[in-house]
Amino acid sequence: MHKTNHSFIQEKKHILIITTGGTIAGTTIKNLEYKAGNTKGEELIASIPTLKQIATLKIDPISQIGSQDMNDAVLLKIAKRIQMAEKDPTLSGIVITHGTDTMEETAFFLDKVITSTKPIILTGAIRPPNFISADGASNLISAITLATKSKAYHYPVMIVMNDTIFDARNVQKNNTTNLQTFQAPNTGPIGIINNNHVYFYHAPNHTNTHSYKLPKKAPFPRVDIIYAHIQMDGKLIRDAIHRGAKGIVLAGVGNGNSSTEALKTLKEATQQGIIVVRSSRTGSGFVNRNIEINDDENRFIVAADLNPQKARILLQILLANQIHDLHQIQQAFYKLN
Ligand code: GLU
Repeated sequence: MHKTNHSFIQEKKHILIITTGGTIAGTTIKNLEYKAGNTKGEELIASIPTLKQIATLKIDPISQIGSQDMNDAVLLKIAKRIQMAEKDPTLSGIVITHGTDTMEETAFFLDKVITSTKPIILTGAIRPPNFISADGASNLISAITLATKSKAYHYPVMIVMNDTIFDARNVQKNNTTNLQTFQAPNTGPIGIINNNHVYFYHAPNHTNTHSYKLPKKAPFPRVDIIYAHIQMDGKLIRDAIHRGAKGIVLAGVGNGNSSTEALKTLKEATQQGIIVVRSSRTGSGFVNRNIEINDDENRFIVAADLNPQKARILLQILLANQIHDLHQIQQAFYKLN
């Protein structure tokens, strides 16, 4: 009797797709005008039939927002859904569709609160679906392809855009409209997708094995970002103090610096128990302790390699985890791996 050998038939992996909105789910209004997040999750996936050939997809539409409206409640929802997916043995990976404007913040948040073995990948689009050279479909194909790869297990949360793979800590949006807007200025990308194959150039400088507890409720503790500039006074800082900020992140000039008056006001903030983190508006590099500014004396924290928006997320997570000790907070910023 003829014996059938099934060993070469590969079962399609099951991937959870969490949709949140963004340009990838946008619809055109007229000319170059469009609205982000108009399309329902199921419609978005159905509009790209190739996706079904790569994996069996389970779709979970969580929101339909432009990522400028991303907020703590939606972040919590995404994280809880991923925690459930982690426990589901039938699921091999998770892809999140998201607007590109704040994608790096969501990716970094998830990286810090989820302990995951399965790949977690965010993707989106720079151009809405019916624009010439729209990039959403190919980005989604790349993200789902990456989510099916067992070599992506134990990797940190990743962003895939324009065939390029980045880790959550180091990635940032660098250009308003260019397809290669995502970059990792300090480390470079960790890999590429080429011809549907995943190539990792180097291992990321951290894994996804440690995490903080998911904040119990939204909104998370208030942390404001204050942007430094010439002729800076202390008024916005004082305003943040009066509005009840629990933390202030300085998007400082150069190595996390600002005017004498702003620094004096930030010191006043620390005297009232507010955590002050010095980050940089330059877009790359580390902010280190006690170089131009005496952080020990001022009781300031430095952001290390985190840009202001990620420094803000980390401080919120730490405060939500009841971590108030300055030494511990400082260590958390330097925890690259
Ligand atoms: N502002 C929108 C968003 O971030 C559009 C940008 C995009 O998705 O590329 O959702």
